[in-house]
Amino acid sequence: MKRRKKYLPIFFAVFALMISSCGTKREPLRRTRLMFDTVVSVTIEAEKGRDLEPIFAEIWRELGEWEKSLSAYDTSGGIYRINLSEESEITSPRLNSALQIGLEYNSITSGAFDVRVGGIVRLWDFTGEGTIPSDSALSEAMRFAGYPVEIRDGKLFKALGAKLDLGGLGKGIAADAVAEILDTIPYINRYIIDLGGNIASGDKSGKPFIIGIRHPRAPDKIAGKFALEDGYACATAGDYQRFFERDGVRYHHIIDPQKGVPARHISAVTVVAPNAVTADILSTALFVMGFEDGMKFLNSNPKIRACFFGLEGENLGGNLLIEEL
Ligand code: AMP
Ligand code: MG
Repeated sequence: MKRRKKYLPIFFAVFALMISSCGTKREPLRRTRLMFDTVVSVTIEAEKGRDLEPIFAEIWRELGEWEKSLSAYDTSGGIYRINLSEESEITSPRLNSALQIGLEYNSITSGAFDVRVGGIVRLWDFTGEGTIPSDSALSEAMRFAGYPVEIRDGKLFKALGAKLDLGGLGKGIAADAVAEILDTIPYINRYIIDLGGNIASGDKSGKPFIIGIRHPRAPDKIAGKFALEDGYACATAGDYQRFFERDGVRYHHIIDPQKGVPARHISAVTVVAPNAVTADILSTALFVMGFEDGMKFLNSNPKIRACFFGLEGENLGGNLLIEEL
């Protein structure tokens, strides 16, 4: 059996390059931490002579707040508490916006993205040893995943046994929150925020960022690169990010909500969207849809671009053009 160790750096799905420039600017400053069960890095290029340490302190504090509110495993956190009851008050604005966006995207993606998969995800135990659930346990979890979840008057209503999972949007929404902070600081010229391949960026002069995509079947190879325009965000969903293997079969963490099992059409998809939470959500959704249904989705959502990779890691194409290296 092969599996990743919890809290160890998960493979970089995507890595970003910051290109420094001259004049009053200085070399970019990059800080890295292990958060959200992955590697988080923030790179900032500011005017010379500015102290960026207080800004990094604020960034880690902000990310810590998001992590705590959205983690299904943090017993003091918001979603953990909600998962224990039928009816709960949503006290945190962060949790509220994550829940609203998550529920909204269920219908936008025709069910491919579904925060109600929490009970199913737990059964597979991707963050632990990895378990193939029994048919009866899976059908019970599927039943709960099908029950409605509603937000009314600041309260969330759901079936007692239903478990919500915001892991499919947490890194994206947190990246957007950090971008929002950095956008208000006048002496920051350029930045890139990377939460395990969920990338938000900004550049005062509108210069794009060159993003490399990890080859889905060769961890030390780059499948290609593309230019991410200023203000855009991107995310990659891949079957290599969190998985275990049994009898030669790979069981990974992106679940087809209709079947309760890992989606099997493709190995990875990279998505570009106007913000990181949309890119995060749609990377999971397009992974579940696969190439053909995914292309139909892209044709009716012109602001989204994506490139799909087949089960052997081959570039299947899409409407995001990748320059092969
Ligand atoms: P990541 O690739 O890190 O964004 O992880 C996606 C996470 O979203 C998984 O670890 C699950 O917790 C959750 N998830 C899996 N499948 C789905 C789905 N179809 N819809 C929404 N969330 C999902
Ligand atoms: Mg994601």
